[in-house]
Amino acid sequence: MSKKIAFLIADGMGDWPIAALAGKTPLESAHTPHMDALAREGSVGLCRTVPEGLPPGSDIANMALLGCNPAVFHTGRGPIEAAAQGLELAPEDLIWRCNLVQVSQWSEAGIMVDYSAGHIDSDTAGRLITLLRKQLGGNNGLDFHAGVQYRHLLTQSGRAQGDEARLFIRPPHDILDQPIGEDLQRFQQAPALWEAINKAAKLLADPALNPSQANAIWPWGQGKPLRLPFFAERFGMRGAVISAVDLIKGLGRAMGMTVAEVPGATGYLDTDYAGKVRTALDFLDQGDFVFVHVEAPDECGHQGSLENKVRAIEDFDAQVVGPMRAGLADQGCAMLIACDHLTPLVKRTHVADPVPFLLWPGISAGATANGFGETQAASTGLILEQGEELLPWILRSFKV
Ligand SMILES: [Zn+2]
Repeated sequence: MSKKIAFLIADGMGDWPIAALAGKTPLESAHTPHMDALAREGSVGLCRTVPEGLPPGSDIANMALLGCNPAVFHTGRGPIEAAAQGLELAPEDLIWRCNLVQVSQWSEAGIMVDYSAGHIDSDTAGRLITLLRKQLGGNNGLDFHAGVQYRHLLTQSGRAQGDEARLFIRPPHDILDQPIGEDLQRFQQAPALWEAINKAAKLLADPALNPSQANAIWPWGQGKPLRLPFFAERFGMRGAVISAVDLIKGLGRAMGMTVAEVPGATGYLDTDYAGKVRTALDFLDQGDFVFVHVEAPDECGHQGSLENKVRAIEDFDAQVVGPMRAGLADQGCAMLIACDHLTPLVKRTHVADPVPFLLWPGISAGATANGFGETQAASTGLILEQGEELLPWILRSFKV
């Protein structure tokens, strides 16, 4: 019997026990009746989504959950988002993810204040990126490409093997409230890039040109263009991804999947959950697999806001898991629920710990739990050490 799968991802939902929650995690403490009910009937376990030696980024973790080994296929965060934008790039081009950020001052004594420049809106950000493109792009091979909110791209033609390709620049969300000096020193090893970043900071400092909090650009996550196996060939399923964020769209596009657009999807607490659910259910009428990604729990983890993170998890359960469960009743569609990585509130960034996952209906005897949480997932003893094996493992069980 062929089956369909709805894979629901709450980005960064996993966490560590918190004293203020009597030793529970936000997921365990949140009111999540739908996930808890599915856990009682399904299989609950842990899955390692970040291979040893790789950083715990959403790009790497989601690539694994989509069945591709990041140790083989990952070239960088920038290249995934370039795939999302459908940028035409030569194999030798270098692609950076380029945040609009807020720093305390643009110097080695500066501090990273906000990796999102106050969650800058896409229209304002788009105007700034256009300005940077006009002023700084051109003969030096540099170009800027506007994305969503604070997430943009910077490309350098023919530099995939250049010195820049080997620089390690820390992701800005990993260095909140920390000095930026060591990264600025590294940028200086790539003079053309360093000059452009400095000019960008000067342009952004002009209030006549820039009404926002953004006062610097922050290129990171660079690499050569992404090439992934096609989902349909690999798994024999017609698949779609649904997400507000470019990196998920990029993974989907690079795998030849449908990238369904939901106009009200924002990647934050105000996202259009109902629109995502409707789009997912519509796709599953004809398609076989849908990857529904919700960004809000991760953003709240980066903020360090316990209240918002619990709310984001409760919204995910009530507005995504619940309606999907109702919409898929009796349709022979499995539900798979996971986070891509943990974003512990105490760290305010990602960690590489294995993530809890939930499959309904269950396929592993004895792996049920009385609710869905990190502790329950660890207690069943079901653990997949390679994240990219999660989907193949489930699909094999369907064929039995
Ligand atoms: Zn993530």
